[in-house]
Amino acid sequence: MIVVQNITKQFGKLKALDDVSVQCNSGECVLLIGPNGSGKTTLIKSILGMVIPNSGTIFFNKKDIATDWTYRAKIGYMPQIGRYPDNMTIGHVLEMMKDIRGNQLDKLDEDLIDAFKLKAFLNKRMCTLSGGTMQKVSAALAFLFNPDVLILDEPTASLDAETKKVMSQLIETVMKDKTIIMVTHDDFLMKFANKKIEIGNGRIIGNYDTDTAGSDGLNNVASYNLL
Ligand code: ADP
Ligand code: MG
Repeated sequence: MIVVQNITKQFGKLKALDDVSVQCNSGECVLLIGPNGSGKTTLIKSILGMVIPNSGTIFFNKKDIATDWTYRAKIGYMPQIGRYPDNMTIGHVLEMMKDIRGNQLDKLDEDLIDAFKLKAFLNKRMCTLSGGTMQKVSAALAFLFNPDVLILDEPTASLDAETKKVMSQLIETVMKDKTIIMVTHDDFLMKFANKKIEIGNGRIIGNYDTDTAGSDGLNNVASYNLL
């Protein structure tokens, strides 16, 4: 379970997050929505410990993440923009990540590489890849270690239609036993969410329980359980 309690993050004069509190229970799929620059990625990076809030506390399974970093091993993260060493091949990057995570993987990696059609690109250097192929590498890495928690930041941005479908099927398959936090505005991913959190200018402006919401989603405000 992830509990974000009253976090504020300031970049110079800009308040990217302003007293934000969010809860994601185990097994839930929580969706973060809001316009560009509203603070979604900053919130995700705060949960990952990549951004340190100026105030507030974040708990992962009841432990304060500021005092215990080991929780990160339980998370698969797909960044909005993946950055990898230019001269490494996809194959090298995958191997390096396996080494770092210390995981003994079985067939899962082959399946993911097949699903994202990365096999033909394994010997290609990262600096030669298109944005979409780079996203596929990020996607494969997020799912690779069978993590309890998936944090996906605009996972289908710059993917082609076929790969968007693969991503959607993958999320549908794993969501039964995983906790997911994702930023997306794609309808076919939004439908998986149990809860939608809307952020505007660094503040939570809506918190909707979508399990009981109408099928037309956010437009049908009357049917939400406003928390
Ligand atoms: P979103 O993901 O919702 O588009 P972000 O969380 O990336 O928004 O950004 C929120 C605001 O914080 C933006 O105005 C962005 O420019 C600013 N910001 C994000 N990261 C940094 C940073 N490292 N340094 C300075 N400003 C930042
Ligand atoms: Mg973002």
